[in-house]
Amino acid sequence: MYYFSALTEAPLCAGSVVYIVGGANSAGQAAIYFAESAARVIMLIRGSSPAAEMSAYLIEQIEANPRIEVRLDTEIAAAAGNTHLERLTLHTRSTGALEEVPATWLFAFIGADPATTWLGPAFARDAKGYLLTGPDIATVVGDSSPWPLPRPPLHLETTVPGVFAAGDVRAFTGHRVAAAVGEGSMAVMLVHKYLHD
Ligand SMILES: Cc1cc2nc3c(=O)[nH]c(=O)nc-3n(C[C@H](O)[C@H](O)[C@H](O)COP(=O)(O)OP(=O)(O)OC[C@H]3O[C@@H](n4cnc5c(N)ncnc54)[C@H](O)[C@@H]3O)c2cc1C
Repeated sequence: MYYFSALTEAPLCAGSVVYIVGGANSAGQAAIYFAESAARVIMLIRGSSPAAEMSAYLIEQIEANPRIEVRLDTEIAAAAGNTHLERLTLHTRSTGALEEVPATWLFAFIGADPATTWLGPAFARDAKGYLLTGPDIATVVGDSSPWPLPRPPLHLETTVPGVFAAGDVRAFTGHRVAAAVGEGSMAVMLVHKYLHD
C-alpha cells in the first residue's frame, strides 16, 4: 500500500496489476503513468463519474487506454495479506455487493487532512490547511501575512516566530518519510539558530 507515490514505485509494478484509489487528477495522472509499464491498472472511484473531480484531458486519455479499467461506485471494504498485500474486498456502493480480488499493488490518491485548525489564526496556512513556513509565507499570503517581525522567517519557521513545522503538516513538503525525517533534523538546527540569534 503506497500513498502519494508513483514515479519511484512504477518500475517495481511492471507487468503487474495495479489498483489505484481515487478519482481526482492525481489519481488519473498516476493511472496513465502506471499503465506505461503495468499489465493492467484498475481505478477504484467512489462516485458515479470521474468527471466531478478529474480534468477532461485526463478522462479522455484514460478512456482511450486499453490497460486502464475504471470501476465507478466502488470502494475498498477490506485489504488482507500476510507479509504483503494479497487481496482486496471491493464494495459496490449502490448494490452493497462485495467482491474479493487478488491484489499486490495498491496506491491511494485520496488527499489528506492536515488537522491544523486547533493552532489558531496566528499560523498562516494554505487553502487546504497545511502550515506555511519560511519563504512560502511571502509567496502564498504576501502582504496579508501575519508574520510579525522585520526579519524574514527562517526556513521551516511558521508565522509564529520560534515555532517550526516539519513533515506532512507543512505545505509544499514531499509527503514521504525521507522528507519528514530530513525536515525534522533541519528544524532542530533552525531552533538552535533561532535561540542563538
Ligand atoms: C497509507 C500511507 C502509506 C504511506 N506509504 C509511504 C511509503 O511507502 N513511503 C514513504 O516514504 N511515505 C509513505 N507515507 C507517507 C509517510 O507516512 C509520511 O510522509 C510521514 O509519516 C510523515 O511524517 P510526519 O512525522 O510528518 O507525520 P506523521 O507520521 O503523520 O506523524 C504525525 C504525528 O503527530 C501526531 N499528532 C497529530 N496531531 C497532534 C496533536 N494535536 N498533538 C500531538 N500529536 C499530534 C499524530 O498522531 C502522529 O503520530 C504513507 C502514508 C500513508 C498515510
